[in-house]
Amino acid sequence: MGLWRLAPISIAISKVQKLSDPIILLNGLGPKTAEKLNSIGIYKLEHLLFHLPFRYQNKTKFTPINQAKVGEEALFELVIDRIEELPTKQRQLLCYLLDKDNKKLLLRFFHFNQYQKQAFSRGDLIQCFGEVKIGRYGLEMYHPEYRLVSKGQSSLIEKTLSPVYPLTSGVRQVQLKKWINIALDAIKNSNMVDHIESMSKNSMPTLRQALETLHHPEEGENIEQILEFKHPSQQRLIIEELCAHQLSLLLLKRQRKNQISNIFHIKDNLSGALLSSIKFKLTKAQQRCISEINIDISSAQPMLRLLQGDVGSGKTIVAVFTCIQAIENGFQAAIMAPTEILASQHLQGFSKYLNPLGINIAYLTGSQSAKDREEQLNIIRNGVANIVIGTHALFQENVSFESLGLVVIDEQHKFGVHQRLSLAQKALKIPHQLVMTATPIPRSLTMSAYADLDCSIIDELPPGRIATKTIAISSQRKHEILDKIKQVCNNNSQVYWVCTLIDESESLRAESANKTHDFLQTNLPDLSVVLIHGKMNKDEKSSIMDKFSTGNIDVLVATTVIEVGVNVPNASLMVIENSERLGLAQLHQLRGRVGRGNQSSICILLYQPPLSTNAEQRIDILRQSSDGFDIAQKDLELRGPGEVLGTQQAGVADMKIANIVRDGYLLKHAGYYSQLILNSDDSKQLQLIRRWIDEDKAHYANA
Ligand code: ADP
Ligand code: MG
Repeated sequence: MGLWRLAPISIAISKVQKLSDPIILLNGLGPKTAEKLNSIGIYKLEHLLFHLPFRYQNKTKFTPINQAKVGEEALFELVIDRIEELPTKQRQLLCYLLDKDNKKLLLRFFHFNQYQKQAFSRGDLIQCFGEVKIGRYGLEMYHPEYRLVSKGQSSLIEKTLSPVYPLTSGVRQVQLKKWINIALDAIKNSNMVDHIESMSKNSMPTLRQALETLHHPEEGENIEQILEFKHPSQQRLIIEELCAHQLSLLLLKRQRKNQISNIFHIKDNLSGALLSSIKFKLTKAQQRCISEINIDISSAQPMLRLLQGDVGSGKTIVAVFTCIQAIENGFQAAIMAPTEILASQHLQGFSKYLNPLGINIAYLTGSQSAKDREEQLNIIRNGVANIVIGTHALFQENVSFESLGLVVIDEQHKFGVHQRLSLAQKALKIPHQLVMTATPIPRSLTMSAYADLDCSIIDELPPGRIATKTIAISSQRKHEILDKIKQVCNNNSQVYWVCTLIDESESLRAESANKTHDFLQTNLPDLSVVLIHGKMNKDEKSSIMDKFSTGNIDVLVATTVIEVGVNVPNASLMVIENSERLGLAQLHQLRGRVGRGNQSSICILLYQPPLSTNAEQRIDILRQSSDGFDIAQKDLELRGPGEVLGTQQAGVADMKIANIVRDGYLLKHAGYYSQLILNSDDSKQLQLIRRWIDEDKAHYANA
């Protein structure tokens, strides 16, 4: 629809409106439009203020025809010379305009009605704004915005640059502009709280100044800077938005700290025994993390600590030391892992460390026999089990603990927040929680998405690890890898061959893994090549994993079921098929399955040529870096926070103005203000949070 259908705009405000008014009170805004605007986070007039233009038009002055530039927008004031309707199949209305020197401009309308045509008359003064094009007869414009000023229509001239807003379907630019202007006007009638102004000591524009500049910049304002999101007015708003998100998490943390948990008195009977039984010396980083955790659990405030460490950094033993403290204090500990393979591996690992100390371990997964399960449920209920290891099965309703005091979640990014909470609810008092992740989280995300957690980082690998050499090879040269496999296996080492089909069902993945298995078995007749995939039953899987860990399988062909946590230090070669389809974090995780022993390891990334630029970048990053934090940061830059965090943390990806990747440098400033506001009164805090975070998305509200 052309703009001509609109009556001249008059910003006549019938009643005084306030920023706290719901948008439905706006003139001409019906329930359907309100719903559309709600979907982009606009509920109240105040929210309209933060819907910022993505570009500007300059209607502050008229352009003389001889200075008009083709391809650019311009505003003209000219006289109508002649009107013509082309009788072609596709009708056209042509309106020829002239300036004082008889220079011409042609307006073309492809959609018009007779009313509109009749409104134009020779000699009328007309203002028109649009993109200047060049046609057969010289300069032209298609469907410009226009006003017949000599017929009394209001002028198009504006004092400041005019905003162009991003639209949502069913909402027109003129409408949105009108409503946003009403909201800007309502600032005068409302008490728009600017929490940061009083704290910033005039180092930044005020909220009001920032909004005015961004919606209606003066001519001469640094528009380039705005388009690059580096303008002080934008920084002012971005800092406030980041601050609101941090604040909502910090409040969540404070709320948690007000709850009462069990105090564990740190003892060293069991831990001393464990320490003397392990064959290695704990790294400094592991020792530091254990101390940090011990401080938390010896307090009545519930711990919620994120233990980050790169693949192979030795997080498991830190968790074991934590569990031991729970047990010495008479409590049970639950360890939840995202896959059965990982759970069963933890069962083995924990048993090896803890059985000699007389500690009982129960095991719960979804695929146990009824009898088995009943037995395990029993010893969990009556307290015979000190430790319970399992998958999602752990938080099902019929699982009840005698005295759950500690929850350890491994590979937390695989679980949702709610799953974590439902396990914690099984305790009489809120348990201490240790959340482990092998996908290092870039600092900017820790500050924005995990501000409610305390954080410990194992930033040191056990000594003697040799960085895995990573090479990329086209899948057409797949057969060349066979010799390398023979060589590795002749050296008594082992091989993973990972088949990946992203976005496919597990059965399709299994099928492709089957083909690869056939190929390898045929070509490596002297080696034991065995297939494992998610469609197999639990016993089959665990028997295969056992054989692989004990060295009875040379080549393990696997789907990504082995992605996280699997620990077989004797494996030193990993081949990843279709590596170009996997994300950086996932590739780093997979690669982390090798390089766990003391021999040098190789990771071969097979790819289907031709490689996209993006895939090439990803493979390059992996070849150049073995540091998970470094890789996570690059992953964040390539894919953005939404993809990196997954849907559980949608709020962080879904900000109105701020963008964690682009604006990460402002997080520290935001942190300064969020701390200050955390110590101010509740109403201020809630006001700030409600301004920036939709009610249904607020971390605070969901707690
Ligand atoms: P991740 O952090 O990836 O979960 P694990 O806890 O599985 O790593 O540990 C990886 C391997 O490193 C295991 O074989 C473990 O026994 C070993 N390990 C852990 N800590 C040390 C250490 N301080 N010195 C030597 N080896 C260690
Ligand atoms: Mg692990």
